[in-house]
Amino acid sequence: MYDPLVHAFPKKTQSDPDSYWLKVSGRDPEDDGTVAGDFDVDVVIVGGGYTGLSAALALGRDHGIKATVLEARSSAWGCSGRNGSFARISGGRVPWSSLVKIYGADVARAYFQELRQGLDTVRSLITDSGIECARQPDGVYKVATFGAHADALRREEELYNTVLRYPARYVDKSGLRGVHEGPESHGALHLPDGFSLNPLELARGLHRRARSHGARIHTNSPVTDWITEGDWHRLVTPTGTIRARRVIVATNGYTSSRLHARLASRVLPVHSQIIVTSPMSDAQVEASLPSEKCMFDTRELLFYYRRLPDNRLLFGGRSAISGKDAAAPRHRQYLYEAMTRKFPALAGISVDHWWGGWVAVTRNSLPFCYKVPGMTDVFTAGGYAGSGVSFSIHLGTKLALMAAGRPFETGASFLAREPERYPFASFIRLGQWMAYRWLHVKDAREAHQARGDR
Ligand SMILES: Cc1cc2nc3c(=O)[nH]c(=O)nc-3n(C[C@H](O)[C@H](O)[C@H](O)COP(=O)(O)OP(=O)(O)OC[C@H]3O[C@@H](n4cnc5c(N)ncnc54)[C@H](O)[C@@H]3O)c2cc1C
Repeated sequence: MYDPLVHAFPKKTQSDPDSYWLKVSGRDPEDDGTVAGDFDVDVVIVGGGYTGLSAALALGRDHGIKATVLEARSSAWGCSGRNGSFARISGGRVPWSSLVKIYGADVARAYFQELRQGLDTVRSLITDSGIECARQPDGVYKVATFGAHADALRREEELYNTVLRYPARYVDKSGLRGVHEGPESHGALHLPDGFSLNPLELARGLHRRARSHGARIHTNSPVTDWITEGDWHRLVTPTGTIRARRVIVATNGYTSSRLHARLASRVLPVHSQIIVTSPMSDAQVEASLPSEKCMFDTRELLFYYRRLPDNRLLFGGRSAISGKDAAAPRHRQYLYEAMTRKFPALAGISVDHWWGGWVAVTRNSLPFCYKVPGMTDVFTAGGYAGSGVSFSIHLGTKLALMAAGRPFETGASFLAREPERYPFASFIRLGQWMAYRWLHVKDAREAHQARGDR
């Protein structure tokens, strides 16, 4: 499997994921084929996921610039075509209470507004472009895994209401009946905005729309080398070299350490995996997840899940550390056990799909969107930490703005900072393994305590 810390770029020989989305979606949209020969362009975009495709669309639609996208495989081959499908008011992994402590209430509020606009960007994209992506009604639940987490959710409700001025609502255990069943239903925080969809169809809709506004999208065209000559960037692919004055880097969690020295080690690629079960019976639905809303829990190493329109359960979380290890059956088993612990009614159900992908985590666990210092007209965004369906599309529009020579003005000032590098790159994975062990121990200790309390 492609591993950004090991390989130079995603190769043609790396297989497609065994994803449910590939199974239920239509055909790949038309594209402009593999790069053929050498040519000059105005703006080149490396990476054809939400960030890159959204930048390409916005450049054409809002700024009259016809961009060229270079994608190593097919559009949305990375996270954008294989994610858990929740479009939420989210980006990064810093709890709101910590964000307020570090940056103050004003910056936290400004960031929340930026994220809210992100969700609105996706809403209007779907409506205005008529993208058929099985969008579900709004509603997100953050569900208390253990009784002891209910108080923290109540405090979070208060913070949402007073500091962020947002109508999140705490739902107690009895209020969850008929929504979320099973032994890990101890109350929840309900967020009224956020919905699930078919993420691959969303990306393909973006792709089609970007091309209709003049973007050229070259697939199977990985950037294998990057040479700077004065104000020009020469991006080398196996079948031709593109010269451009402006470059947008939208490779996010799939960024190889070898793409460019300036960008190396700014994000940690973290593997997230998903299983999708066979269709549940009506009785299983009733006893597990009657609601179709987006769900995630309150574990340190959290799980996210939803009921799909054909009554399958999609269940995801983190486990593998390296690409080499990601296909080990114990990771599938880990998700299966977590799912059946949460929903005992699903014991024995078969798993029809199992796949994973690389999310990008920065050292401060927050996203970024900036003009790269020390390089001429290079812009990049990413670091969504597994919460980028809406914000990547939003930041794609901001990258387009900057590439068109206009400033991205936001009260969330940290977004514009270049993320700090991870030090000791060769030990990163050891550190991550230790962190996972520690978080597993914390989760296990809480589970043990909860059993004692019952
Ligand atoms: C399993 C999983 C579940 C997730 N669930 C959710 C969720 O429910 N909600 C949510 O908000 N977020 C979720 N995410 C995260 C979300 O999918 C991402 O934040 C978002 O898709 C990022 O989009 P992107 O365009 O920045 O990156 P990507 O979609 O990863 O695109 C990067 C692209 O760059 C290409 N590339 C890399 N190197 C090169 C090169 N050298 N040359 C050319 N192209 C290159 C790759 O092939 C890839 O297609 C999930 C992610 C995963 C993996």
